[in-house]
Amino acid sequence: MESGSYNPFQVAQSQFDSVAELMELDSGVRELLRQPSREYHFTIPVHMDDGTVKVFKGFRVQHSDARGPAKGGIRFHPMETVDTVRALAMWMTWKCSVVNIPLGGGKGGVVCDPHNLSMREQEQICRGWVRQIARDVGPFSDVPAPDVMTNGQHMLWILDEFETIHGGRFPGFITGKPVGMGGSLGRTEATGYGAVFTLREALKELEIPVGETTASVQGFGNVAQYAVELYTKLGGKVVAISCWDQADKVSYTYRKKDGVSLEELRGISDKFGGIDKKRAHALGYEMLPGEAWLDQDVDILIPAALENQINRGNVGKISKAVRVILEGANGPTTPEADEEIKRRGIFVIPDFLANAGGVTCSYFEQVQCNMNYFWEKDEVITKLDSKMTAAFAAVSELARRKKLYMRDAAYVIAINRVAEAVKLRGWA
Ligand code: NAD
Repeated sequence: MESGSYNPFQVAQSQFDSVAELMELDSGVRELLRQPSREYHFTIPVHMDDGTVKVFKGFRVQHSDARGPAKGGIRFHPMETVDTVRALAMWMTWKCSVVNIPLGGGKGGVVCDPHNLSMREQEQICRGWVRQIARDVGPFSDVPAPDVMTNGQHMLWILDEFETIHGGRFPGFITGKPVGMGGSLGRTEATGYGAVFTLREALKELEIPVGETTASVQGFGNVAQYAVELYTKLGGKVVAISCWDQADKVSYTYRKKDGVSLEELRGISDKFGGIDKKRAHALGYEMLPGEAWLDQDVDILIPAALENQINRGNVGKISKAVRVILEGANGPTTPEADEEIKRRGIFVIPDFLANAGGVTCSYFEQVQCNMNYFWEKDEVITKLDSKMTAAFAAVSELARRKKLYMRDAAYVIAINRVAEAVKLRGWA
């Protein structure tokens, strides 16, 4: 899933290395944390609907379980690479740590394109994935969740197969389950809402009234849609949304200068977050090139699609009007682009803080499953708000006190907690 020449794992390692240097981290801890603890590569044979057998490639990477069981999603993507999975696993470690939940970092993936797979074939991939790894994951070691192009149904198939293998019911093994099957209310909204809770706090700190701001968003999937929902509820106006067009195999930006309508766009989008361009045109949306979301004269940019989307080649296009970048996606900014953004003084809410709402709610889901008692949605969202607000406050306080860039401040807090756990366990 690399775009251009960027390798997400090298990006994740270079971010870690520069903060480890800044923190003067012990060499043993540094060596341990700059790579995954364990990783699994395997094949998943599937009997396809047309009678042939196709073999898919699967991965699971456990970056660190020093603070608790590894935690992280499983992605389905035709361009998935082990380096993307490694980077995402490492970012999960920092994410769980920065919001101070007792979990580590992991990630999984399957190289496949669900657009071209029937539901039965997808079920076979899910069951095959967990059959290959059932002894190395579990509620007390490694807990998967949905991610790009996977959802609660995929998680339930994985859980069902895991429970069949181990003989019992283990709802804490997986999160992102459908509500009524051990899932938590609010999980669908959690990542997008969580991101906007941190944006609300940032705007307060910058003394910018949210009702006077505009935003441009990349992506129209789970994260983007709920971020747009809460941001507009708070009074903000989204003027452009970019997403992938599966038919044309390029992305487009849909713009309405007086503000896009979330309901309208939801009505003309598919379950993968792709917008129907003909119907968008009929509804009066201007259709611009994919990267145009980046050069809009807005106050806030919200990359919420994939990694490496703001890079050396396009960072110069960011409008002078932009004051805040809310990184909804994982790793949307490459280190070179980040340097430029830092130089320009744009306030960045870094990915592993901004999008930690999903894993925070996953943690709530595990807590509820363990108690076998489920909270009302308001209670989940209120608890999410206080976790995200507290995490943002700690990072921004450190950034101000030590005159650090927000990303570096978030890393210092996250890495410190993991390093402490590594030392307490006597690992390094
Ligand atoms: P999703 O599959 O629901 O949506 C992805 C969106 O990105 C779609 O609208 C797609 O059209 C768009 N997209 C893909 N390629 C694009 C391109 N080149 N240009 C423009 N748009 C493009 O995924 P999601 O769950 O919303 O996740 C988005 C990002 O957020 C990913 O980086 C993911 O790892 C991260 N994330 C997700 C969660 C979660 O809870 N869903 C939690 C934390 C982080």
